[in-house]
Amino acid sequence: MPLQQDAKSNKSWIDSRIKQEEIDKYLKNGSDFIPDEEIWDVLNNAKKPSPKILKQILAKAMAVETMSPVELASLIKIDDPKVWKKLAQVAVKIKKRVYDNRIVTFAPLYLGNFCVNDCKYCGFRRSNTEVKREILSIDEVKKEIESLVGKIGHKRLIVVYGEHPKTDIDYIKETIRAIYSVKVKTRNGEGNIRRVNVNAAPMSIADLKELKKAGIGTFQVFQETYHKETYKKVHPEGTIKGNYHWRLYAMHRAFDGGFDDVGIGALFGLYDWRFEVMALLYHARELEATFGIGPHTISFPRIEPAFNTIFRDNLKYKVSDSDFKKIMILIRLAVPYTGMILTARENEKMRREALALGITQTDASSKIGVGAYSNEENIQNKKKEQFVLGDSRSLDSVIQELARMGYITSFCTAGYRCGRTGKNIMELLKTGTEGKFCKLNAILTFREWLDDFASPETKEIGEKLIKKEILEVKKKMPKMYKAFINYYRKIEGGERDLFL
Ligand code: SAM
Ligand code: SF4
Repeated sequence: MPLQQDAKSNKSWIDSRIKQEEIDKYLKNGSDFIPDEEIWDVLNNAKKPSPKILKQILAKAMAVETMSPVELASLIKIDDPKVWKKLAQVAVKIKKRVYDNRIVTFAPLYLGNFCVNDCKYCGFRRSNTEVKREILSIDEVKKEIESLVGKIGHKRLIVVYGEHPKTDIDYIKETIRAIYSVKVKTRNGEGNIRRVNVNAAPMSIADLKELKKAGIGTFQVFQETYHKETYKKVHPEGTIKGNYHWRLYAMHRAFDGGFDDVGIGALFGLYDWRFEVMALLYHARELEATFGIGPHTISFPRIEPAFNTIFRDNLKYKVSDSDFKKIMILIRLAVPYTGMILTARENEKMRREALALGITQTDASSKIGVGAYSNEENIQNKKKEQFVLGDSRSLDSVIQELARMGYITSFCTAGYRCGRTGKNIMELLKTGTEGKFCKLNAILTFREWLDDFASPETKEIGEKLIKKEILEVKKKMPKMYKAFINYYRKIEGGERDLFL
């Protein structure tokens, strides 16, 4: 459909999306929780911490307490590489304390690339007439799942949608139902998707209630940039996304719609990274103060090149690799309980280095073209992709590398199915208890994956790691060992989806 006609027929849908009363109810005396000037004042007035203060800040982070903005700003000021090295060591210790040596893995799944918004950095923006637009039918969605589950072995997805009447809440619900319905025979058992997380446009509370009922795990919305002036520049006025506050309160509405697992994030490169890291902390603190629960995950993508999109070519605030590593360390220290997601947008080398900075989740075998898992034609079709990936390695090779480095890949999705979410999980994460449950479930799901999908080489390396892990469970968690080993044996015998 020609651009003008398309825009006209969508207008009434667009006009009905934003519910002003669902913004106003959260503002305090008309103000939001991102005070741009105050953030810059805190940053500008911050001083490098003395050794004594630094020790106190790091002790607080090790105790899994959220940092104050002044503390974070003081860490941002540090310019001695030796001190950054020390911060990285503490970051990884916190990761180990809260999440142990496991890395959760997932796959992104793009179901449609129609979008009424016009974000300047995104290949799916509506003015990008070169993009081939497509929405998967329910049968096509099921085919994608058959590939993801049957060929690769994924159990957890982040499902991504553009914002468009064709992919509204009804489509989202229907596709999620379809995703959960697919079961595939595997080498030694059966596979299915056990957790669907959603990255979609901000929604009204009524739509979020519907979404929650569909059985999704985490609801993710990235603010892109928290800096209002920049936000306005990259999200044209008159688009839904052009409304900063509708997006800023997406997670408040999610909590009010019944969610207790939410994911926040910023798209790094749009504005000064120092401001964005501070703002992410303000967001986390606001959620903690209002709902008693902070973000389940924080994402920190950097802008990647996108098809027919020149935006990235002259990026004023492009984030260098060394600053990107600082961002990861700072997020881990500032919001110690949060899950940190690093995606295949980043290249192999950065992904390897990020492991030593405290990340907890990553994807592999990822395809970001619509229909790209099941249809060979779509795999390399840049006209259907949102941006370009930096790491196209298979799940098998990523898992093998992780295992060589001593990390166990977890496909565990038990937490949200046994009520370990929201306030419950906050407590478990802070006390290090979640790490223990997850360790057991990580081993069980890793066993499943090795038996069903691993190449002989990966299996051999994985087996060695599992042996070591089982000994550790026996020694450190004697009370849980019997139940655990019972499940483990059953899984070896072909039973699936057993969790503690
Ligand atoms: N359309 C929904 C929205 O904008 O919230 C959700 C899906 S959008 C496809 C998911 C995320 O991709 C965006 O929030 C943005 O941060 C990220 N993204 C968009 N363009 C990108 C680019 N060129 N490079 C890296 N990430 C990008
Ligand atoms: Fe649409 Fe999201 Fe891309 Fe913006 S980032 S154009 S809202 S898909």
